[in-house]
Amino acid sequence: MTSDKNFHEKNEMKQSSDPCNCCCLDSLYTILDGEASEENTEELMAHIEKCLPCYQQYDLEVAIRELLQTRLAKKCPPQDLLDCIREKIASITITQ
Ligand SMILES: [Zn+2]
Repeated sequence: MTSDKNFHEKNEMKQSSDPCNCCCLDSLYTILDGEASEENTEELMAHIEKCLPCYQQYDLEVAIRELLQTRLAKKCPPQDLLDCIREKIASITITQ
């Protein structure tokens, strides 16, 4: 029954390479808010380098925050501008 065992192992490997189902999005926001410890930051950064979904999410949030900070320094952005930026960056990330 070795073939059965092999089949099972292959299935498990396939599952583990599925889109990211890790729970690091919470720590991602903690880090972006500047509330994470140095250890947590390093951990997530190491993960992001290997995990594309998390990297894209991080990249998106950083871009939004930078844009907002620049805008906030001058004027408060309307909420729909925020949504517009999110959609734009998301569509760029997907098409690439
Ligand atoms: Zn991830």
